[in-house]
Amino acid sequence: MQPAKYGVERRFKGIPASPGIAIGEAALRLTDEAALYNETIVPEVIESEKKRFTAAVQTIAEEYRHIFELAQNEENTVLPILETYLMILTDTLLADAIRRRIASGLSAESAVYQEFDAQKQFFTATKDPILRERAVDLDNVRERLLAGLRNATITHALAANKILMAQTVTPTDLMLYRSAGILGFATEIGGIASHSSILARSFSMPAVIGLRDAAHSVRAGEIVILDGYAGLLIVNPKPETLVKFEKRKQQEEENRQKLGKLAKLSSQTTDGRAIRLQANIDSLEDVDAAMMLGADGVGLVRTEYLIAQLQRFPTEEEQYEWYKEIAERAYPRPITIRAFDVGGDKYAEGVPHEENPALGLRGIRFLLYKKEIFSSQTRAVLRASVHRNIRLMLPMVSTLAELCAGLDFIATCKKQLAEHRIPFDADTPVGIMIETPAAAVMADDFARYADFFSIGTNDLTQYALAADRSNEYVAAIFDSFDPAVLRLMQIAVRAAKKRKIPVSVCGEIAGDPNAAELLIGMGVDELSVTPTSLLMVKKHIRKVNAAKATNLAEDAIRCSDNNEVRQFLSSRRRKAKPADSAVT
Ligand code: PEP
Ligand code: MG
Repeated sequence: MQPAKYGVERRFKGIPASPGIAIGEAALRLTDEAALYNETIVPEVIESEKKRFTAAVQTIAEEYRHIFELAQNEENTVLPILETYLMILTDTLLADAIRRRIASGLSAESAVYQEFDAQKQFFTATKDPILRERAVDLDNVRERLLAGLRNATITHALAANKILMAQTVTPTDLMLYRSAGILGFATEIGGIASHSSILARSFSMPAVIGLRDAAHSVRAGEIVILDGYAGLLIVNPKPETLVKFEKRKQQEEENRQKLGKLAKLSSQTTDGRAIRLQANIDSLEDVDAAMMLGADGVGLVRTEYLIAQLQRFPTEEEQYEWYKEIAERAYPRPITIRAFDVGGDKYAEGVPHEENPALGLRGIRFLLYKKEIFSSQTRAVLRASVHRNIRLMLPMVSTLAELCAGLDFIATCKKQLAEHRIPFDADTPVGIMIETPAAAVMADDFARYADFFSIGTNDLTQYALAADRSNEYVAAIFDSFDPAVLRLMQIAVRAAKKRKIPVSVCGEIAGDPNAAELLIGMGVDELSVTPTSLLMVKKHIRKVNAAKATNLAEDAIRCSDNNEVRQFLSSRRRKAKPADSAVT
């Protein structure tokens, strides 16, 4: 440790495990692992050492059972965790192995240390990221057991109103730290799928993990800022940094108060149909905003943003980092990454000059034309999928041949990754945008191959009505409420229902307050909107009666033009208002 570095602002980048901003003094909890690893004992104390171990197991098991009782009314994530711990703790094979190590001349602490380490190797070596994170369970039980052996209670109360810096935090600790009132925590190890991270999120406690060496580089009492959105730890912030984050924290607080309970409430209709309300995002900041507003996931990542930002196609590595970060910030909620939709009115670098670009090499057509770009993107998405919360989506599909070529290509990329033993989620769902009339009409055939549909009403409207979405002269014609568009959507939704695949709407109509009832009535399962529209749309979803909405949608679709649809919907809304306005 170099004392000179203290006193200046230091930043550490880790993994965002639970969103929120915390500002306060650091409280440290470190363990001296090296000293514990190889303590030997004389043969005379072997029996008493074994007894000490048995007593510690009993005490900790008792402690877990007590916390189990306390947790009966807690989030349902807590109980299975405690069950897992108890199972590990009372595993007789494990206990016997530890006793054998004591008999060979190790102290109980070192025997526990070494045996848990050996067991952990198995989980750490596995390719399955979920199992790998289970290694953390072993760490948690081991730490508790060691504390029990040393007869040491971990002084949770000392961390009150502070930000905890630790190597790792066990879920049981976290429950005690939470009741002591810590502001947040930063750990050196852990995964976003670990139980502690899951709990931190359900406690709304900001947390950053994977901060290698950070805990050892912070002194107790130093002021730290924890940014659980970006996975950042700032130690000893400069005055201007402090002002900036205090402002953000205040903003977060104001938002929370303003929005009241709505961000935390589910997007359910009055008769109990759950609608997944997700966000369309362009940037990492959008992900943070969406999560803060309680989005159920990210329904559309417009990856073209990355091209626009860099003014070139990003490398596989750049994409991997970006997708991984989005997936981590949203975790455990799902994110849907759309493959580059270039061409048309979007970024057109590398697209040959075309007389009529909107009908040219757009979306999947461009990707199949520039396979090296498609390949680097697919590989990056798959590599980022290890936490299993990523879906991949193909844009602008209009023929079955395109869809099958896209799927074949993705299968080849998977094969290459597997051959090189690069981990990825082999079950990554691959879906398609429904944004051409052809895709809507052929949806029943496409649904046999696609894992999900997302209806892009912006393009579907432009292509159905032959009205350029960015041409003000045809703005009156370009209307997603036109029955021509609604009828195409209905074909796609019905096909999805028939084939039992999820269907979402991610075009702008999803964020229109007049559309929620109509779309739910059509049978749409998910809506994906800009983060700023999330709560307003949720408010409307919570007023909808899904059964009545079905009739409304049928009537709306029968209208003969867009004005008639709009008039019909607003008259129905006016009529429904008095009865429904009590529900928020
Ligand atoms: C759409 O077409 O509706 C859509 C969501 O995609 P984009 O607006 O990015 O073309
Ligand atoms: Mg589109």
